[in-house]
Amino acid sequence: MLGKAAGRHYGCTMVAIASSTFALIVAAGRGVRAGGGTPKQYQRLAGRAVLHHSARAFRAHPAIGAVRVVIHPDDRALYDEATAGLDLLDPVPGGAERQDSVRLGLESLAEFRPARVLIHDAARPLVSAELIDRTIQTLDRVPGAIAAVALADTLKRGDARLIAATVPRDGLWRAQTPQGFHFDAILAAHRARASERLTDDAMVAERQGMPVELVDGSEDNFKITTADDLARAEAVLARRAGGWDVRTATGFDVHRFGPGDQVMLAGIPVAHDQGLIGHSDADVALHALTDALLGTIGAGDIGQHFPPSDPQWRGVDSARFLQHAAGLIVQRGGTIIHVDLTIICERPKVGPYRAAMVARIAELLRPALVDSDATRISVKATTTEGLGFTGRREGIAAQAAATIRLVPR
Ligand code: MG
Repeated sequence: MLGKAAGRHYGCTMVAIASSTFALIVAAGRGVRAGGGTPKQYQRLAGRAVLHHSARAFRAHPAIGAVRVVIHPDDRALYDEATAGLDLLDPVPGGAERQDSVRLGLESLAEFRPARVLIHDAARPLVSAELIDRTIQTLDRVPGAIAAVALADTLKRGDARLIAATVPRDGLWRAQTPQGFHFDAILAAHRARASERLTDDAMVAERQGMPVELVDGSEDNFKITTADDLARAEAVLARRAGGWDVRTATGFDVHRFGPGDQVMLAGIPVAHDQGLIGHSDADVALHALTDALLGTIGAGDIGQHFPPSDPQWRGVDSARFLQHAAGLIVQRGGTIIHVDLTIICERPKVGPYRAAMVARIAELLRPALVDSDATRISVKATTTEGLGFTGRREGIAAQAAATIRLVPR
């Protein structure tokens, strides 16, 4: 990775290494507003951590020599999982404030003597190669260059909720990252301003009188803060990839009637003069639905994940199977758009339980569902007009279809 140091052999170490631009990614924050109790830089975006996307953007850029991430000391395991395979420099622990974290990161890079450094927030995973290019090229002219977007909205100063003034927006920009600098200058600036609380690295540079140029950023290069931001980022990734990868798969299952006084159907106990025979709770409807979900990501069938020969699944609530399948889809970066279930039997009558079944399936799939629109879950029932094994009331059949969307890889 640090092949540029090979210049050493020719006695021109400084020149060779001075051609380098390093990336320093700041991921030491604790922001958990995106949900899940995990800091936002480790939340999943299209199946990978937000930090993975941010780090990969720089690691894959031909003008970046190496990438180092500043992390919170408690996050080492999350970091290792997020960045596996990316070939980054070892991470370094950050400090109490972002400014401290950047300074510590810069200090750790000093031994490599990079000519330039691009400092980037891990929570901006959609930084483009073009924006990285523009920032680096601007550093040919000036010692500092930051991504920024000119303000388009009219600005109001409020006195509580009453408008006190309209603020002229001429010349106003929203600062983003990357923020690029000549390395020695920004390290010196951070050391000199360590005791001040400054909001970004450009401000540290400004205080030292360093010229910093505004580079055209991008609306896509927004900061992930909330769960809505994750969904928006996923839509941007899908757009860049040419659209969502939408997949539909089906599932089918049958269970035979046996002794008992109720059946489990779609997660709801239904009174009946027989039970269903099976290794688990024999919920034929959830089994068909589980197979449909597994089918969307080519993950085999329910028997592979929960072998009937394994005693640990005896009598188990089939809700666990369904949640497992939904969890695999989430891990793969997928979102469930729709499921449709048809229960095939003469008796029991499904109609009185249909609403409860829809509600139960929605509850089980909630972490994987695109939204809470009630029409995304469909439960139907039919008979076979007295024909076949269901007509003879020997058992219940169920078939299901599931549709998911993924960000293409
Ligand atoms: Mg089954």
